[in-house]
Amino acid sequence: MPWADELRRMQVWTNADKPEEAAQARRYGAQGIGLCRTEHMFREGERLEIVRGAILVANEATRAKAKAASGEQLSADEQDAITTFDAAMAKLEVLQQGDFEGIFEAMDGLPVVVRLIDPPLHEFLPNLEEQLVKVTRAESAGGASEEDKELLATIKSMHEQNPMLGLRGCRLGLMIPDFVKIQTRAILNAQIAVTQRGGNPIAKIMIPLVGHVNELARTRELLEAEAKAVEQKAGVHVDYKFGTMIEVPRGALTADEIAHEADFFSFGTNDLTQMTFGYSRDDAEGGFLLKYVEEKILPVNPFQTLDDAVAGLMKVAVDRGRSTKPDLELGICGEHGGDPESIFKCERIGLDYVSCSPFRVPVARLAAAQAAMTNAAERDK
Ligand code: PEP
Ligand code: MG
Repeated sequence: MPWADELRRMQVWTNADKPEEAAQARRYGAQGIGLCRTEHMFREGERLEIVRGAILVANEATRAKAKAASGEQLSADEQDAITTFDAAMAKLEVLQQGDFEGIFEAMDGLPVVVRLIDPPLHEFLPNLEEQLVKVTRAESAGGASEEDKELLATIKSMHEQNPMLGLRGCRLGLMIPDFVKIQTRAILNAQIAVTQRGGNPIAKIMIPLVGHVNELARTRELLEAEAKAVEQKAGVHVDYKFGTMIEVPRGALTADEIAHEADFFSFGTNDLTQMTFGYSRDDAEGGFLLKYVEEKILPVNPFQTLDDAVAGLMKVAVDRGRSTKPDLELGICGEHGGDPESIFKCERIGLDYVSCSPFRVPVARLAAAQAAMTNAAERDK
């Protein structure tokens, strides 16, 4: 492995959401965290209940806050929604800060890319059909509770026909800005706390699912205002990098514009594959896709091995991004980051690092070295 490490050009980072995973990956030689999915932290134990409490009033509270900001009088119900929402979000902020402190400590001195919340909110709520059955059964047996009926109404109001193309990623933070605010505070306050204990945390904040530069610019404004407030309150300067995932084809095609607002890009090739092929990543593998591979309609499963057209789109984004910012940092954090054949393609495209699950780190180190040697040999021919 040390021979491989000497030969490779790309770094190997890891996808990890927990301190134990980060420590494990570090033992395997990971040089940073390329993707910390913060929503996983929302699902653990007591947190799910807190998150649900926040989601149930999130839209009402956000509308009420906008109304108050424009000077309008709020009703008692609106005021209540804000109080309930803020209390739940404050609890989450404390819990998330603790999580980030743990991750920064485990990766001390190495970069940690923290991605703000990404999945559609209904994923944190009970399933629509199950809740419908529960309420219908209770109604026929004498009456469902108000709480269950309200929950059903909220789940229905959030239901989307195509949730993967719906209210998720950066869209979520733009519609409910408190998500961006609490996560920014939790990340930066964790960084301050770990630094004060003598550590060296290196935070990079990443925005998912950007397709238009304005989405990133607006999110950045929101985030920077919050970061300034954190600095003022703590009386210290906090250093962090701000970047985005490139996982929507429009984002890749407009990477030159997007690079004006980002210090780094990380390719989310799970979503980029989904949106380039138009295949649902949640359904395709259980359905026609395996048959496609079996019958050689497709040479490989593109969710496992980077497809050439998707890699081509990445190359466009790399060239356009670097035309705006020659020192733009570029990585990959989709599942392909741990697949040797895909790692070869990442080397050819010129990425700076691949990020993969902890257990794939050794394989990725070896593949990155083989890819660098192959590329160098091809260049010398
Ligand atoms: C991706 O889309 O490749 C990615 C890493 O994000 P997620 O899988 O969480 O959507
Ligand atoms: Mg994604």
